[in-house]
Amino acid sequence: MSNENKTISQFELNLICEYFSNLERQGPGSPEATLKALSFIDNLTENSRIADIGCGTGGQTMVLAQNIPGHITGLDLFPDFITLFNRNAGRLSLQERVKGIVGSMEEALPFKKESLDLIWSEGAIYNIGFERGMNEWNRFLKKDGFIAVTEASWFTPERPAEIEDFWLANYPEIDTIPTKIAQMEKAGYIPTAHFILPENCWTEHFYAPQFPVQEAFLKEYAGNEAAADLIAGQRHEESLYNKYKEYYGYVFYIGQKR
Ligand code: SAH
Repeated sequence: MSNENKTISQFELNLICEYFSNLERQGPGSPEATLKALSFIDNLTENSRIADIGCGTGGQTMVLAQNIPGHITGLDLFPDFITLFNRNAGRLSLQERVKGIVGSMEEALPFKKESLDLIWSEGAIYNIGFERGMNEWNRFLKKDGFIAVTEASWFTPERPAEIEDFWLANYPEIDTIPTKIAQMEKAGYIPTAHFILPENCWTEHFYAPQFPVQEAFLKEYAGNEAAADLIAGQRHEESLYNKYKEYYGYVFYIGQKR
């Protein structure tokens, strides 16, 4: 969902929402990557309080919940995603300790100062920007609490103009890994670990499941320009990924509040 920051109509927004509601994940990632990030975090008990910000329909949240104790609040802007999130939690009998709420990371978040043991956010911090998110979310963490986010990052100091222009237009804060780590450190965290998400987080877990959804969408919205544009945009993004994946990807950044 990298094109949200353009001005779009309510109809287009609903289309995007419907499209991604059909997918288990709304961004690149995998259960294995979630668990690998979790392996760097060791402070959790059944009293822990965890927030998953920009949780979508909860693909990664349910993986987290099945592997850690404590209470998880998932927060997302789209009510439809939160409905699906809470349905998913119920299906897995996690509803007592996993709750989805509607909210915006643009606004003050509904958490108390120094109340959280862990903040999780996969593929979503870019909505307010990595630096802003790192700075603003810090106050909700207890001292020694952890943050784990994924963020699009450049792997090389330079890259071809086609891919640079595409990402800068859609995701202006994309930057190199050392820059992201320095921003994290400056925002008050010890950068504990980082790793690049493997290619299958994009191909197998993000783009491949979109295929059948695209086919169904094109049938359902035959002749609709906005739907055709949405799908063309997703396919373009995928083709750029295949062409330029050596230059960029998602990186998991894990930090501990100082
Ligand atoms: N974490 C999920 C979803 C990533 S897609 C996954 O990895 O599958 C980005 C998510 O951020 C979407 O669910 C979108 O609805 C949400 N989002 C966008 N702007 C937001 C905002 N201002 N506040 C909260 N969530 C937002």
